[in-house]
Amino acid sequence: MPGFEKFGDEERRELQDVLDNGVLMRYGFDPMRNGHWKVQEFEAALCERLDAPYAHCVSSGTAAVWSALVCAGVGDGHEVIVPPFTFVASMEAILFAGAVPVFGEIDETLGLDPSRLAEVITPKTKAVMLVHMCGAMAQVDQIKEICDHHGLELIEDVAQAMGGSLNGTPLGRFGRFGCFSFDPVKTITSAEGGAIITHTEADYRLVDAFTDHGHDHLGADRGQDRHPIMGLNFRLSELHAAVGIAQLRKLDGFLEHQRAIRDILETTLAPLDHVSFRKLPDRAGDTATFFSFFLQDADMTQAAVTGLTDGGVDGCFYWYANNWHYYKSWDHFRDLKTPHPIPLQRLDQPMRYQNPSLPQSDDVMSRCISMLIKLSWSLEEAQERAEKMKVILSSLG
Ligand SMILES: *Cc1c(COP(=O)(O)O)cnc(C)c1O
Repeated sequence: MPGFEKFGDEERRELQDVLDNGVLMRYGFDPMRNGHWKVQEFEAALCERLDAPYAHCVSSGTAAVWSALVCAGVGDGHEVIVPPFTFVASMEAILFAGAVPVFGEIDETLGLDPSRLAEVITPKTKAVMLVHMCGAMAQVDQIKEICDHHGLELIEDVAQAMGGSLNGTPLGRFGRFGCFSFDPVKTITSAEGGAIITHTEADYRLVDAFTDHGHDHLGADRGQDRHPIMGLNFRLSELHAAVGIAQLRKLDGFLEHQRAIRDILETTLAPLDHVSFRKLPDRAGDTATFFSFFLQDADMTQAAVTGLTDGGVDGCFYWYANNWHYYKSWDHFRDLKTPHPIPLQRLDQPMRYQNPSLPQSDDVMSRCISMLIKLSWSLEEAQERAEKMKVILSSLG
């Protein structure tokens, strides 16, 4: 990752089709299109690749998770369980939907720990927002069972794990809604964009209408169709979809290269007793956009980050101290800093997410380093990098 490292003639050709016709919108303008429906084509390709009956493209991954929450009926008075290690979009979506985020503990899969989920479920819990972080799967099969047992909606955020799977099932296919992002730094990119996959036509129609002002898209003419619900505009453009189509065709090649690099890193570092690797519920389904590993304690991990960075091993993230990905630095969410009052501000009780106690997650994240795996590295370069890392990390043991 990321997909922008591999732009080429394929993207250029797809884009040129759109520019030749001048139809930038995904709906309507039938006579001008010369058969080009890039967003529809992208959606069909996503259905095929993700083994999903329905896929609907939207303008971003954030739009995808927010729309999925709204379409799952999440709103005022509800709680949504979310991992404390995610991207800020999870929190934004839940809070702007008018619901209260409640953190569940994560484990060494870097996803929600199924054995710690029940303790944060309350009568107000409406949904679980499960996030597959850093390229690999959370224990989504077990989490789905718990959701079914408690009557909770499961929404999967697959923004960071496009193409990943668990025991052969593509990520995004377990929940009622599976959400994807094609933003500029994701595994495949359309510059901006996202998608939602669903199991039923009813959910697909709901998402399709909600993300285009409530249009039902059933009438022949955009001015004639009906508006069964209110909506907003989260449409993807034909230009974005054109880039997405070309990138999706390259996805499996990207994953193969990333996995080969991951294997080199793992094999080289395996002899170090004080280094352990992220737990993968299904190694074959890891997309390997990141190589995540653990040291023994927070001090050793910080020393490792400094050592790697100073030693010229770039792209190593210490998420524990990162304000985009870990709850500890999210003061603006804790203090509900929004330009307008949101329903939560009516609550007089301190919200459960404002002062969470998450010792297990803190322990996991304080020992974790994730290194970005770049598509542009050759396997020889990856091997050199692995040797360099081994020398630096050995000195800490
Ligand atoms: C990138 C990302 C998003 C948001 O996607 P955008 O397309 O940037 O809006 C949501 N969730 C996770 C986990 C992400 O990494």
